[in-house]
Amino acid sequence: SNFLNLGLNMLLTDALTALGYKEPTAIQEQAIPAVLANKDVMARAQTGTGKTAAFALPILQKLSEVDPEKRQVRALVLTPTRELAQQVYKSFRLYAENTELTIAVAYGGVSINPQITAINKGIDVLVATPGRLLDHLINESLSLIELTTIVFDEADRMLDLGFKDEINRILNRAPAVRQTLLFSATFDDAIFKLSKTLLTDPIIIEV
Ligand code: AMP
Repeated sequence: SNFLNLGLNMLLTDALTALGYKEPTAIQEQAIPAVLANKDVMARAQTGTGKTAAFALPILQKLSEVDPEKRQVRALVLTPTRELAQQVYKSFRLYAENTELTIAVAYGGVSINPQITAINKGIDVLVATPGRLLDHLINESLSLIELTTIVFDEADRMLDLGFKDEINRILNRAPAVRQTLLFSATFDDAIFKLSKTLLTDPIIIEV
């Protein structure tokens, strides 16, 4: 299999070629078509499996097909830590190299003002940690009214770090009709419980 066969367009596959990606990993083979088909997904995958591209590539493709530069947050990726937020942001930037889409990152522990400036310029994708994202929502420096897809990356760590309340408060400010993708290194009772509140008829992927 290759990335074109999975339904990705050449704006994206050219970027992957430049990065030296020759073929999709197992999680990418399963997740990319499901995300492109607008399904909710619950995926168990460790770091190193290519999980970031598994959600980033189909999200970028869908956004660029609907509107290549809408400049309103349509995809949101929540991560448990700022390190992961930075890493996911860097990956999105690389994969989106040949598109017109704009991506920003927001995490705590640093001044909020440069993040507000970046968001105000208009962005299509936001990668964020839950606490700082809530700050932006409460400040009204950000609206999720145009959100179509939300990703919970490393959802198990998000629960371990006690972000359940933040997640609920974020969801209260997000459209109820949306695509939700949940990635976790482990599937345990807490994750299944969370998945029941987040996902509708999900495709379950385990690699
Ligand atoms: P992740 O699991 O998302 O942290 O990705 C692990 C590493 O694999 C990253 O350095 C990616 O750049 C790389 N990677 C992801 N997908 C592929 C692929 N299909 N071919 C080669 N490398 C990949």
